[in-house]
Amino acid sequence: MNFVDVILPLHIPATLTYAIPNYLKNNDLVGKRVIIPIKKKFFTGVVQRIHDVPPTAYQVKYVEDLLDDAPILQPQHLNFWQWVADYYSAYLGDVMQAALPAALKLGSETYIVLHPDYDERNEKNLALNEKEYLIAEALSLQNRISVAEVGAILGQKTVFPTIKTLIQKKVAVISEEVLQKYKQKKEKIVRLTAEYRHRQLLDQAFVLLEKRSPKQADILMMYLSALPNHDFMSVSSLAKQAKTNAETVLKLVEKGIFELQDRDVSRLQYDDVPLKNAAEITLSDAQNTAFEEIKHSWQTKNVTLLRGVTGSGKTLIYTKLIHEVLQTEAQVLYLVPEIALTAQLINRLRQYFGDLVGIYHSRFSDNERAELWYKVASGEVRVVLGVRSSVFLPFVKLGLVVIDEEHEASYKQQEPTPRYHARSCAMLLADRHGAKTLLGSATPSLESYHHATSGKYGLVVLNERFGGIQMPQIMLVDIKDETMRKTMRQSFSSKLIDHIHSALAKNEQVILLQNRRGYVPVHECRVCGWVPDCINCDISLTYHKATHQLRCHYCGYATPPIAVCGACGSPDVKTRGFGTEKIEEEIGQFFPDKKTARLDQDVTKTKHAFSRIITDFEQNKTDILIGTQMVAKGLDFDNVTLVGVLDADQALTYPDFRANERCFQLLSQVSGRAGRRSVQGKVIVQTKRVELPIFAVIVEADYPKFAENELRQRLEFGYPPYTKLIKITVRHLHFDAAQLSARALVAALQPGLGNIVLGPAVPPIGRIRNLYYQEILLKINPNQHSLPKIKQHIAQQLVLLQSLTAHKNTQFMVDVDPE
Ligand code: ADP
Ligand code: ZN
Ligand code: ZN
Repeated sequence: MNFVDVILPLHIPATLTYAIPNYLKNNDLVGKRVIIPIKKKFFTGVVQRIHDVPPTAYQVKYVEDLLDDAPILQPQHLNFWQWVADYYSAYLGDVMQAALPAALKLGSETYIVLHPDYDERNEKNLALNEKEYLIAEALSLQNRISVAEVGAILGQKTVFPTIKTLIQKKVAVISEEVLQKYKQKKEKIVRLTAEYRHRQLLDQAFVLLEKRSPKQADILMMYLSALPNHDFMSVSSLAKQAKTNAETVLKLVEKGIFELQDRDVSRLQYDDVPLKNAAEITLSDAQNTAFEEIKHSWQTKNVTLLRGVTGSGKTLIYTKLIHEVLQTEAQVLYLVPEIALTAQLINRLRQYFGDLVGIYHSRFSDNERAELWYKVASGEVRVVLGVRSSVFLPFVKLGLVVIDEEHEASYKQQEPTPRYHARSCAMLLADRHGAKTLLGSATPSLESYHHATSGKYGLVVLNERFGGIQMPQIMLVDIKDETMRKTMRQSFSSKLIDHIHSALAKNEQVILLQNRRGYVPVHECRVCGWVPDCINCDISLTYHKATHQLRCHYCGYATPPIAVCGACGSPDVKTRGFGTEKIEEEIGQFFPDKKTARLDQDVTKTKHAFSRIITDFEQNKTDILIGTQMVAKGLDFDNVTLVGVLDADQALTYPDFRANERCFQLLSQVSGRAGRRSVQGKVIVQTKRVELPIFAVIVEADYPKFAENELRQRLEFGYPPYTKLIKITVRHLHFDAAQLSARALVAALQPGLGNIVLGPAVPPIGRIRNLYYQEILLKINPNQHSLPKIKQHIAQQLVLLQSLTAHKNTQFMVDVDPE
């Protein structure tokens, strides 16, 4: 075999073929990373195939270098990449970009920096060779060096093997902006010294301590009961559990009872919690029935949908199922839609499964993600709790896939391509591994629900909350009516204010949902209605009080508030509408002595803000939590009795056929936060359109009825799940050119497809970041048309079109199953 086809992390249609240098001829290269020269630069590619066919279209070059001794991807993973590329009309290179952590994709442009924990005095232990030593020294003198510079320092082209070992030996790391994460990553840990492991000595120590320093005796006691095997425990968590401080713990080090070490706080490590046995989880009767039904349905179906109301205890059912799978050799993928949710869940899972659990999401540094990659490939990590991209981890053998909150739109990647849906990908993956899939939600997507009621999936229903907690009472408030009767106080109806009053009076907590961030959505001219728009996008700017700026939520453009109307020149430009920031301010006026917190994208930009806000609320340090849909998502608080939705109509503005579905889901989710043992929760929904049928089913909280109505309409108007959609977005710097290209594409697609091609039309926001948008929608009935053929047809027409000068600068984006 003389040639390899290599997948490169580039947006190019095909793999490229390279010649295998002689010294690699006996190496089985498939699934291994190689270094590939392209135009004087180097890229990391993955070998897809070995063969004997030289390329005809170009002069073949040699593979520059081999990075891996063992493949990082098995054929099954490469096949999965191919499926994702084919199904979502993307290139393999795009999939590689999405799938591989950056630290596994070294290239000429990659920068490396000295590992923050690298200690020159210890370098002897690392047994660096001459080349590695040279680079280590260069790194300690310079901030960062690029891969190209490494070549210059070594005076040779082959640099990647050296870089790879430097990373493995923790001398260097890939440079990232998030590097500050590496600071403060040491923590103090202690364990019982070998000496004191002898029973007698330990008993003596106790006697002595109890007499002179009982607090230290407590600490020792605490340690021994938490870690009977005398493992290391972090000083801070020991201090916390013994209700004392770190200094007191360190006294035991001075006495020689504990030995002290510094430990790298890898983000893959957590508090030392004594493990609990998942076999001993006691489910309620209803939960147990659901648990058995799920297993029963798996005897005949590969996918089962668990529709369990909020607070029904789905997590514990998952945990028990995971436990059973872990008794076999298999691995588990537990998908959640958002990073935020992993924080609460990881602690729950680690209680039972300890180090077998790994988390995977984008707030981890690339180096940490690469670490998890290898642990999944080796089977060391058995349960992955992760977001969308974790479907690409190199699982050895999956036994179970859990997709929690399966209806969430964030499972779909919007930008960039591949625009994949993690739910569909995960189900395919499960299928390939012969694993079972459990979809969980209180408000399933209509697609999944349809499959479950039509027998394609199993369906298990859990209709009661755990612990006899009642479902909340949902009430509508007609804002139009209150406005007429002049009982509104700014954004709040008198009814909502009254209920907040009585909840707070009983020391209960309140959540307010306002699905827009910022202070107020717009500044508006009172005279002519003019609203300042973003200069790059067709969208009005939002006023942010904290920074006293108007900001675009699409492109980030910011400008000081505009004092004079841009249309009529009137100085009467005032704020209208409301966002989270404004609601917080109003609440501050109505309830000046209460503590409020705000949860939205603006305040949670920093890593710890989110968990701090949540913890404060959990510990009752805050009375009222105000937020965007972030407050609706799966968080679990036990003292919230009232949820207020300030503007339910806002939830209906989702710009397509899913508007009702999204509204129902959001309001049900946020309602789920209300109620606790013995107190029925209340939900107050403010709307200007009480008469809409959707609000009636929301009040009844009747999901099956909602789904039935909605599915009937989907059938009538030919929307999913009864059709498949493909959306093609066309964009260009000029409106006319965008329109011209979009029309040309429609004209090219219509022959053979006819009336299933709709558009082009300008989407709700026609310009973003100075690009004009046009959209084309294909509504495909899979019984009449072959989906793969249509995708192929689109791809061919796009290639033809883009070869014409008129469309050279147009961007076309294909989105299969758009959300
Ligand atoms: P869901 O995900 O269905 O909304 P959760 O799994 O978050 O519900 O459960 C809600 C609450 O009830 C959690 O605090 C959970 O710890 C508790 N809970 C549920 N089932 C049990 C059980 N069998 N034993 C003890 N606590 C439970
Ligand atoms: Zn903008
Ligand atoms: Zn005006």
